Amino acid sequence: MNIPQDKTGEGGVIITKLDDLLNWARLTSLFPMGFGLACCAIEMMGAYASGYDLDRFGIIPRASPRQSDVMIVAGTVTFKMADRVRRLYEQMPEPRYVISMGSCSNCGGPYWEHGYHVVKGVDRIIPVDVYVPGCPPRPEALIGGFLRLQEIIRQETIREPRAVQQIMARRTNNTGAKKEETRATNEALAVDNQAGSGTNDQQIPTA
Ligand code: SF4
Repeated sequence: MNIPQDKTGEGGVIITKLDDLLNWARLTSLFPMGFGLACCAIEMMGAYASGYDLDRFGIIPRASPRQSDVMIVAGTVTFKMADRVRRLYEQMPEPRYVISMGSCSNCGGPYWEHGYHVVKGVDRIIPVDVYVPGCPPRPEALIGGFLRLQEIIRQETIREPRAVQQIMARRTNNTGAKKEETRATNEALAVDNQAGSGTNDQQIPTA
């Protein structure tokens, strides 16, 4: 934002673009949803605690997806949890963002080869904005992920809001778009099952 103090003499007038104002408000008040899946969540809790103090970035966890704009997927995403994770994501209002924290969430982690029960990357069921590597990532790495997310938000514009894009895509793809999307996800999960060492009949319901 430009703050032309020489125009007012007192800095009482701020001239900026609406995009910059909205982006500044969003990136300095990120509200992650308070949930965790496995050991990575312990590091996430450590980042919230006083030693690292995420509050100083305006990052304050909320207890409801309807009040959250960031989902931190911290831990192993099992097939049993996959549709819950997706449902929570769908309950979040736009604009919403996803940070994938740790190897399990990024790609299946230590379960990538023989973990028949683990989704090999949460990006198979929801879109991911930032990947934080590590097993587990330290709180500093999660903070780095948030800083990266802030940079992404800083580049956004209301002329191309993602929510509108998604709504328009659904309209043009007819009313069965969601079922089609879910079917594609289930196919991806089925491929994972075949790659694993066992069988798994859990899928995201298409209804
Ligand atoms: S990436 Fe490592 S620390 Fe994180 S949930 Fe998986 S096994 Fe646990």
